[in-house]
Amino acid sequence: MILLSGGTGTPKLLQGIRRIIPDEEITVIVNTAEDIMVSGSLVSPDVDTILYLFSGALDISKWWGIRNDTFHTNNALKKLGINEKLMLGDADRATCIFRDVLMQKGASLTEATLSLSVALGIKAKILPMCNEKVDTMIKTPEGVLHFQDFWVDSHGNPEVLDVDITGIKKARLTKEVLDALKLEDNIIIGPSNPITSIGPILALKGIKEILMTKKVIAVSPIIGNSPVSGPAGKLMSAKGYPVSSNGVVRCYGDILDIMVIDDRDAAKEPDFGLKTVRFDTIMTSVEKSENLARNILKLFRDIS
Ligand code: GDP
Repeated sequence: MILLSGGTGTPKLLQGIRRIIPDEEITVIVNTAEDIMVSGSLVSPDVDTILYLFSGALDISKWWGIRNDTFHTNNALKKLGINEKLMLGDADRATCIFRDVLMQKGASLTEATLSLSVALGIKAKILPMCNEKVDTMIKTPEGVLHFQDFWVDSHGNPEVLDVDITGIKKARLTKEVLDALKLEDNIIIGPSNPITSIGPILALKGIKEILMTKKVIAVSPIIGNSPVSGPAGKLMSAKGYPVSSNGVVRCYGDILDIMVIDDRDAAKEPDFGLKTVRFDTIMTSVEKSENLARNILKLFRDIS
């Protein structure tokens, strides 16, 4: 099973998937367009969330960072007058240092992530979507902000005029992603942000053509006219998509075989033009994630 993932909605679904499929049989292709340098270290927030999910260390009260991490370095830096863009815990920073050391010796982001997986005892394959630097830039009336400045620093408050994924045209599908896609037919696009998490993955040259040949099921992160959490609505509007499950379908184009929307969603199926299935998609517990995962996995049998 392959999942395309950001750092909140799809990891919730992965909690359930892991109760059904062994980690060895799971590959996650992870967004890297929110990566950012913090105090000289590369932070790859979505990749790290997935790493910590599989290593069992993830703080699932926040869906980022390591449970019970300390913040001594972050606080010491504050005393020196440095306010870091992201709250980086001490153990979380160790992950970044591990990655930096390997990358400074010439490893790619993918190689460093695979080494981290081994060091953390992870059996799933966690693959950054690409090795090149790609940035999500948010155009606001006051100027262009990096996604992390928009979301963390400005709390997602500025009006959004446009979203640009810089560097994406030069980014290439990695050998590891291509090899994984060759071996697997069943793909889940988890309930992640269609513009800033799934959008960059689908914008990689050649991936849509490959996904057209696969069985692809997507789960909507939007219920009715609002995302379950986060800025997806604002960003979809800025890109000209309706904020609805139908808008999510339009973002993904014709790669989908089945769209999973929430029981509570009033969207009408004919809008979709593809098979639509309704489940309870709000994952407020691992049990709910497992139920949703079980329902989704059964659907693959229905796709010819
Ligand atoms: P990010 O990288 O932290 O932005 O996280 P993702 O892109 O992976 O996930 C954010 C999206 O997940 C948001 O658009 C939410 O609406 C969606 N989401 C979060 N929790 C749930 C849930 O329990 N169910 C569904 N259907 N969507 C969710």
